[in-house]
Amino acid sequence: MKPGTSQARIRTAPALARGVVMGIVLAITVSLGSEASAAVQTTARQLPAVAEMSSPSDNNYPVFAIIGAYAVLLGALLFGVTYWLMARTGRGLRESQTRLADSERRMRMHCERTPLGVIEWNADFTVTNWNPAAEHMFGYSRAEALGRSALDLIVPDAAKQNIAAAWRQLMSKGDVQHQVFENRTKAGQIRLCQWHSTALVDGDGSIIGVASLVDDLTGKKQAETISARMGRILEHSWNEIYTFDAGTLRYIDVSEGARHNLGYTLEELRQLTPLDIIPEFSAGQFEAILGPLRENTQTHISFETNHRRKDGNLYPVEVRLQLSREEEPAVFIAIGQDISERKRYIAELEHKALYDALTDLPNRILLQDRLQHALQAAHREASSLAVLTIDVVRLKEINDILGHNSGDIVLQEVASRLRRVLRESDTVARMGGDEFAIVLPMVAMEQVAAAARRIQTLFEQLIIVEDTPLEVEAAIGIALYPDHGDTPEQLLQHADIARHLAKREASGFVVYNPQDDLYSLRRLKLHGSLRQAITEKAVVLYYQPQLQLQSGNVEKVEALARWPHPSEGLISPADFIPIVEQSGLIQPFTLWVLEEAVQQIERWAQSDIHLGVSINLSTRNLLDIRLPKVIAQLLKSHQVDPALLTLEVTESAVMSRPEQALKILEQLHTMRLNLSIDDFGTGYSSLAYLKKLPVQELKIDQSFVMGLSRDDDDSMIVRSTIDLAHNLGLHAVAEGVETQEALDLLAILGCDAAQGFHIGRPMPAPELEQWLNAADWKRPGHP
Ligand code: C2E
Ligand code: CA
Ligand code: CA
Repeated sequence: MKPGTSQARIRTAPALARGVVMGIVLAITVSLGSEASAAVQTTARQLPAVAEMSSPSDNNYPVFAIIGAYAVLLGALLFGVTYWLMARTGRGLRESQTRLADSERRMRMHCERTPLGVIEWNADFTVTNWNPAAEHMFGYSRAEALGRSALDLIVPDAAKQNIAAAWRQLMSKGDVQHQVFENRTKAGQIRLCQWHSTALVDGDGSIIGVASLVDDLTGKKQAETISARMGRILEHSWNEIYTFDAGTLRYIDVSEGARHNLGYTLEELRQLTPLDIIPEFSAGQFEAILGPLRENTQTHISFETNHRRKDGNLYPVEVRLQLSREEEPAVFIAIGQDISERKRYIAELEHKALYDALTDLPNRILLQDRLQHALQAAHREASSLAVLTIDVVRLKEINDILGHNSGDIVLQEVASRLRRVLRESDTVARMGGDEFAIVLPMVAMEQVAAAARRIQTLFEQLIIVEDTPLEVEAAIGIALYPDHGDTPEQLLQHADIARHLAKREASGFVVYNPQDDLYSLRRLKLHGSLRQAITEKAVVLYYQPQLQLQSGNVEKVEALARWPHPSEGLISPADFIPIVEQSGLIQPFTLWVLEEAVQQIERWAQSDIHLGVSINLSTRNLLDIRLPKVIAQLLKSHQVDPALLTLEVTESAVMSRPEQALKILEQLHTMRLNLSIDDFGTGYSSLAYLKKLPVQELKIDQSFVMGLSRDDDDSMIVRSTIDLAHNLGLHAVAEGVETQEALDLLAILGCDAAQGFHIGRPMPAPELEQWLNAADWKRPGHP
């Protein structure tokens, strides 16, 4: 615009000059009269010629000349001024037109570039202007918007009436309106916009429409909402959020969570500094922590400490500190978190990792650790130490018969009894399953034996589980430092070997003896060669006679397995049957026993010896649904009468899966086989259940029979078992008859049959045949 202005100024002088010259010409023309009319058309360049023409023809020349000259001058001046004025006005007009165009251009540019929506519409809401920002805001292109109703384009239906009314009012009054309302975009999104609307006024003052500047608040609103929400969240956060003055360290803002945890009000806290609530730090120590933040060498610092509540209690917190220089004066921001819960949780996890969940006793890992420490101490102090491992002997049976809940109760009771009997310095741990271990530091052998006996007496007391008194025994193995080893592993292993012996020999407790290693080694070796022995049929059957007390006849023998081992000699089934069961070989093994027994019955029958054979089934066999069919085939192929075969099962075998066992027993019974309950009296079967079993025989456990003549309790049990059997319509068989006295007593008590070393040991078939021929048992009451 500046060049235009200077151009106008430059043109001012020539215009005035030209105006004056033209004024002179005009004045002269007027003064010369009518003939001068032609001269009006004359240009300034002809002026000297005009002056020459007028002078010779006039007589009053001097007066007229003077008047004429003045008139000419005046006229010229007048004309010049007028001309100049006119020129100036014309130029002003042109200039203002230019300016208008400029400003329009600027307006258009603004309109194009502004982030505000520019929307104009006329009296009937038809859109007449729609800038790119409006396009962007509402999604309608200019072409789409122009000519359509502003109301339809951008106002949601619900607000249409109200806004239309407001706009109409605006157009009638011609004022300005600022409104905030929601708008709908082409895509259907809702945007919150502020409308600054002005009535558009025409040149004659009439209102022709509305122009609006539209500001999209959606984003701002969201940001505001977020920041307000953040503020609220921080304030109400259970995190502790503090700001404190970087100079005085006085608290400035403290979140609700922090106030709650500390028990102070905000006013009280504003009088305090972090040093007042963190007792751990001295002023110097705290400054040392803040140092790297002040020096800007670190952006934040985290540490764990304790906060002290107003009431003096401490609680653990994790704190993260940073310095904000954006505030004036600079402030420290501390975000603290009460980590009591986390600490508890970690402690709980640690506890879980080191303690047994059921009994809350230390577990194997912790025991080994404690044993390690105890060994170091014993080594330092040249003292001794004992490791005891304890087996809860009948736990498996309790689990099988009464369920795991009962087993758990027994374990908990055992744990609490063990804890009660030991010293503070002793460690009792649960090693898993039915196994406990105890470390007794600084004890002499006599004290160890006394401790073992104390533990045994703990087990003498019955454990009551849901009103059922249970008898639980312990097998205890003992190993000593330094005699039996100097590492936790060695001592535990040796105590285990002793424990196995204690269990096997039912001898309460056994102190490890290096010779016992043979036992465990043997067991391992057996494991390896057993499979081979079974597949190669290296196992043999011995037969033990069963004497009918009424008739004095031997009508039945029990088949008992023996394993003649090349180097170990004859291995007892008590040693290898558990291994067979564990290694999953029990089914083929039992099948082999059955085959062997059935063939033996057949062979004897062919030699006119009519003997029945009783064989032992394991728990697993009673769950094998193929068993009845296999036996049926076997009996059929050897043409053996099923009544000659008896199957002995223990109570616990039946009770481990009663339904399935019952199903199989019923099938066997239908096949006319005899069924017998072995080791009766040692299990926990209920009488009600016993009644359901299709058995014909109860074998009274040898433990009762052996004590028959000595122990009143045992004779009472034997007597009542015989009665019970008879009441149920069953035969009573006593096993473990080792004396004539016992045999006589059994006969008096009405026992049906007896089995035992006193009558005959288990023997190979040929030996049994000889025994049968030689034996005098056919006469009842034989001395
Ligand atoms: P069990 O069924 O209770 O067998 C009776 C055990 O008592 C046999 O031990 C027998 O030798 C022994 N015995 C017999 N009379 C007397 C006596 O007067 N005094 C003493 N102290 N003991 C006597 P054995 O043969 O060592 O068998 C032990 C256990 O092994 C058997 O107990 C039985 O549960 C199991 N068993 C034996 N053979 C087999 C078998 O073929 N299959 C299965 N599954 N188990 C078998
Ligand atoms: Ca048996
Ligand atoms: Ca038995």
